[in-house]
Amino acid sequence: MGGTPELKLYNTLTREKSVFKPIDAENVRMYVCGPTVYDYAHIGNARPVIVFDVLFRLLRHLYGESHVTYVRNITDVDDKINARALRDYPGLSLNAAIRAVTEKTETQFLDDALALGSLDPTVQPRATDNIAEMIEIIERLIAKGHAYQASGEVLFDTKSMAEYGQLSKRNLDEQQAGARVAVDAHKKTPGDFVLWKLSDDNEPGWESPWGRGRPGWHIECSAMSGRYLGDVFDIHGGGLDLIFPHHENEIAQSRCAHGTDVMANVWMHNGFLQVEGRKMSKSEGNFVTIYELLHTETFAGRQWPGEVLRLAMLMTHYREPIDFSVKRLEEAERLLAKWPAAEPGDAKPDATVLNALADDLNTVVAVQALHALAQSGNAAVFAASAALLGVLPKKTEIDEAVATEIDARVKARLELLKAKNFAEADQIRDTLAAEGIQLKDGKDPATGERVTTWEVKK
Ligand code: AMP
Ligand code: ZN
Repeated sequence: MGGTPELKLYNTLTREKSVFKPIDAENVRMYVCGPTVYDYAHIGNARPVIVFDVLFRLLRHLYGESHVTYVRNITDVDDKINARALRDYPGLSLNAAIRAVTEKTETQFLDDALALGSLDPTVQPRATDNIAEMIEIIERLIAKGHAYQASGEVLFDTKSMAEYGQLSKRNLDEQQAGARVAVDAHKKTPGDFVLWKLSDDNEPGWESPWGRGRPGWHIECSAMSGRYLGDVFDIHGGGLDLIFPHHENEIAQSRCAHGTDVMANVWMHNGFLQVEGRKMSKSEGNFVTIYELLHTETFAGRQWPGEVLRLAMLMTHYREPIDFSVKRLEEAERLLAKWPAAEPGDAKPDATVLNALADDLNTVVAVQALHALAQSGNAAVFAASAALLGVLPKKTEIDEAVATEIDARVKARLELLKAKNFAEADQIRDTLAAEGIQLKDGKDPATGERVTTWEVKK
């Protein structure tokens, strides 16, 4: 391919970086594990969203926009969701409460992903729309001797698969050593995992050959990837923490059900976003949500634009850990401020940027090259290159005169707020909102004065 670089990706399965060869160059297929929608996503969860969006953009560039299928699922059945539903909506029926939790969280996640400059994946399936597919895989696994029923559960029999543990390089005996035998007395092997479990009346459930129940976590991804991408596909991604047990178990289910040598050819995992050296996570309590960063002053007393968060993430290679800090965000913001807001037109992306991305998504080198381009003055090439990373500085689609007029109305509102005339101030805000202009209130950290910025709603 003249002028097109060879794409190399690091594969967790082989622990090597190698040349990527799609199964079908007309339809390159990628699956990434999406969020469990019980609570707002934190900025650590944003990392796979951004990293695999860059890969999606690169694949579209290399193979053609219509030749890439990217599936990112929504996990909307999980015991954490049930717990949240009961806690937050005690007055509703269980089903209605679950729907309230998952709809609200999913909508927020999609807003977050958009604000972080991510393209919509080709398909965003929900687990609960794929229960029949899960049941079918489980039936097949039982028929082939890879799964069994015990104590109200259907379990995957890990001993039935010789290559179980290949991705995480764990062997069954190691897993057995650490297992809690008493709790797992119904399992043939302690590492056996749940495919289906029976539900009580106060738990969500679907009819199945094994009674009314709900799926285990791993089976969802086998069902949804199989449905939309086929038995074997090109790339499977997610964060490092998913290698074991989630991805290991997805592989076991899919390979054994379909009788294939692999589930996906390339397995890619992003490193952790950390706080003081520890993985950001809900359970550690050291998290800040994407929503808080974008829309509140929780983090360092101010709001942070989506493109700043995104660039801050891409300034480190996706496999390295990131320490999340104000300094890093400020650095990203300073860079963005120096970049032109331009249109790519027909321009092709710069070769250095493209080659860096084709080398296992080396966004560090790509960002440096972008910065050099920004100084070089060729705004169209800069824009075409920035679009590959999805970090184009925002260009308002409003001309000078209109912008000046909006500025004046925003200023008038600030005066009204100062005079405590909230009704009229709100009216200005609402009228602007109706015109598609969104106001963001903040504080000038230097003077403590109230400041308001505005942007055109997407
Ligand atoms: P979860 O909702 O915990 O299943 O996570 C959703 C996605 O975010 C998965 O791909 C995780 O691997 C990823 N993830 C969770 N925490 C972090 C973190 N601190 N840094 C990077 N990725 C993370
Ligand atoms: Zn998954």
